Amino acid sequence: MPTRQPRRRFLKTAACAAGAGLFSRTAFTQDAVEKSPPNFIIIFADDLGYGDLGVFGHPTIRTPNLDRMAREGQKWTQFYAAASVCTPSRAGILTGRLPIRNGMCSDKRRVLFPDSAGGLPESEITIAEALKSRGYATAAIGKWHLGHLPQFLPTRQGFDSYFGIPYSNDMDRVNGDAHEAFQNPKPEYFNVPLMRNEEVVERPADQNTITRRYTDEAIRIIQEKKDGPFFIYLAHNLPHVPLFASQDFRDKSLRGLYGDVVQEIDAGVGRILQTLREEGLAENTYVVFTSDNGPWLQYDQQGGSAGLLRDGKGTTWEGGMREPTIVWGPGRVKPGVVNGLGSTLDLLPTFCTLAGASIPDDRVLDGLDLSSTWLEEAPSPRKTMFYYRGEQLYAVRKGPWKAHFISQSAYKFDKGPEKHETPLLFNLNVDPGESFNVAGQHPDVIAEIKTVVEQHKATLSPVENQLEKRIARPAENAADANESK
Ligand code: MG
Repeated sequence: MPTRQPRRRFLKTAACAAGAGLFSRTAFTQDAVEKSPPNFIIIFADDLGYGDLGVFGHPTIRTPNLDRMAREGQKWTQFYAAASVCTPSRAGILTGRLPIRNGMCSDKRRVLFPDSAGGLPESEITIAEALKSRGYATAAIGKWHLGHLPQFLPTRQGFDSYFGIPYSNDMDRVNGDAHEAFQNPKPEYFNVPLMRNEEVVERPADQNTITRRYTDEAIRIIQEKKDGPFFIYLAHNLPHVPLFASQDFRDKSLRGLYGDVVQEIDAGVGRILQTLREEGLAENTYVVFTSDNGPWLQYDQQGGSAGLLRDGKGTTWEGGMREPTIVWGPGRVKPGVVNGLGSTLDLLPTFCTLAGASIPDDRVLDGLDLSSTWLEEAPSPRKTMFYYRGEQLYAVRKGPWKAHFISQSAYKFDKGPEKHETPLLFNLNVDPGESFNVAGQHPDVIAEIKTVVEQHKATLSPVENQLEKRIARPAENAADANESK
C-alpha cells in the first residue's frame, strides 16, 4: 500500500486570498465569505464534444438553457479536461491534480472497469473534502468512475451522499451483439448498477430515465440544503454511448438520438438554474458546465462532434481535451467570452478561494485559481497545459503554441503512436484545427516548450498504478476488459 500522505487543510487561509487583494477589488468581501460562503454546482457531461452545443456552434442541436447560461455568464473557448478519457479526467477535476500524480492513468488500461480493484487513493483531497472544512453539504450525482469498491466510493471521498452509476454506462454489457447493443440500445443490454450511497438500488439501471432522475436529485438537494453552503457534483453519464433519452425528449432533435440526449441534459440545466432563481440562491451560487473529454468518434452518428477541432476522445489533439465550458454566477461572474486558458484542474483552487477554504499545499497541485478571471475578467493565470495519453506526455501547450512530441489518432483511425524527432508545432490562436505545422519557423518556441517539459517532469514522483489492479476473478465481460473507454 502507498504511504498515506497527511491531510493538511488549513495551510492557505482565506486571509491570504484577501491579502492578495482578491476580495478588496470586488463587492465580494471577505466578510461576505465568512457569513455566507457561496454554493457550487459542477455539471459534467460525458463525451460531449466541443461542437455539440448551440452556443458553441452546433447548427441543429438546440440548447437554449446552456445558451442563456453562457449569455448570463462566461463562455470559455479554451478550457481543457485533465485527460481525454473518463477515469483520469474525473480524477483531475476532483483533485486539481494531473492523474499521473496519483496513479489514475495507465498505458495498459486507460480507465477503470467492473473488474478493477483500484480507485482514487484515500490520501487524495477532493473538492468535496476541501470544502468540508468550511461546513459544506456535499453530494455526488451520476457517473463516478473513480473506483466502484466500497473504499473508493464518493461517500469515502468527502461526499455526504451519492446517487448514480459507479462506472461507464456501456460496461457490464450482456448483449453479445455489440452493433445491436449500441445502435438500438435498451437498458437491459447493460447490467450497470445504480447506487444510492453505498447500496445498489437498481440493476440494470433504467438509463431511459437516468438523466431526468439525476436532475431531480440535484433539485431535491438544492431545496433541502438551501440554507447552504452546498457543493453538488452532477456528472451525467450521457451522451456517452449507449444513448438513452426519456420519452419526452425522444425523436425531438434534428440531430437524431444524440441530439435528443444533449437536449435533455440542456433541459435539466434549465431546471436547475430555475430552481436556484426560485429559491433565491442564484446570486450566491456558481455553476460550471463542462465535459470530461471529447466526442467518441468511433461511434459515428452515436458520437458527438468536436466542431472545428481535430480528432476526439482518447487523443491529445484538441478535440480530445478542449471542452465546451460555461461559468455562471449572476451578480458575481462577469459576463463575457473568455479566450484565456482554463482547465477542470483549476476548479478546486478556485472554489477554495471563493469559499475561503484552505488550498492543500502539502502536495503538487496542477490547478490554478481562476477566481479573478471569473469575477473581474482578469487575464487567466493559466499559461500552459499538459496533454497526457495514459502515462505518456504527448503534447504541451504554452500560450498559443502547442508542441506534439508524440501523436496518435482516436480509436477508429488509430495507427499507433508516432514519435516526432522535431515536435509538430501549431499556433492554436491562428490554427485551432491543428492543420498547419509551423515547427520549421519557430525552433525557439520548441526550445522553450522543452524547458517547460523538463520543469514539469521534475515535479513528478513514482506512484502506485490504480488502473491496472484487478479483482481476483475473471472479467464479467471480455469486451469490457479489452476496450479503452
Ligand atoms: Mg467520457
